Amino acid sequence: MEESFAIAGTVYLVGAGPGDPDLLTLRAARLVMQAGLIVHDGLVSEEILAMAGPKARLVSVAKRRSRHTMPQDAINALLVREALAGKQVVRLKGGDPLVFGRGGEEAEACRAAGVPVEVVPGVTSALGAAAAAQIPLTHRASASVVSFVAGQCKGLTEQDWSGLAGKGRTLVIYMGLASAPLIAEKLITDGLSPEMSVAVIENATSKAMRVLRAPIAGLADVIERERVKSPALIIVGEVASDADHELRTLALEFAE
Ligand code: SAH
Repeated sequence: MEESFAIAGTVYLVGAGPGDPDLLTLRAARLVMQAGLIVHDGLVSEEILAMAGPKARLVSVAKRRSRHTMPQDAINALLVREALAGKQVVRLKGGDPLVFGRGGEEAEACRAAGVPVEVVPGVTSALGAAAAAQIPLTHRASASVVSFVAGQCKGLTEQDWSGLAGKGRTLVIYMGLASAPLIAEKLITDGLSPEMSVAVIENATSKAMRVLRAPIAGLADVIERERVKSPALIIVGEVASDADHELRTLALEFAE
């Protein structure tokens, strides 16, 4: 196999995709297999970590809500230190490194220290989940806009989501499980119909994937009743409805 690494110590910010190793880019797969040092998140699947060579050192910097094993500054410092010591550092992140992944901060820290950085994109979980659940994020008949938002509790009330959800629009919420009741309330207060469809996709692209559907007014209930666990995405919009599939097809036939 062709050597993927540069000569000097470099940090590779690599997207590991949503979980299924088949969804890695070829570049990501090569880097993982050749890496001497992999610094990874909790979201990176076991199957992907198992692709690392026998001599690779794996360092987990897993983050969980309210339980940070390693603060971001310490992660940045680790990447910079190892690269300055001449190592090729693969920083492996779930999904895409630049979508709610703090990849921007890590790249900045490297640049500030004069360390070369390369970013390798990954399939962000919104795209992986949509594909696995066969939910079109855009659709000629029912969605011409798609937005990705972060739904953590912190700062949720200050975020302006007006106009992001509703007819003709798809809203994908990352990290929204814990604040789902607040999110539903916020969207309905902003004018969204309580009947608007929602899909919750847990463990997208893995064998444990579940897809649950409800009207937005029932979002919190379905999450509680089904004991949905992280990682999960919430997709809000007409495209999330099962029943709508046939209607959308009909609407297109009429539109033609
Ligand atoms: N950089 C990542 C996102 C990190 S934020 C990406 O591009 O996907 C973490 C959030 O991503 C989780 O809280 C969850 O909302 C979502 N997520 C990541 N992997 C997922 C998966 N396999 N299934 C469902 N949601 C996932």
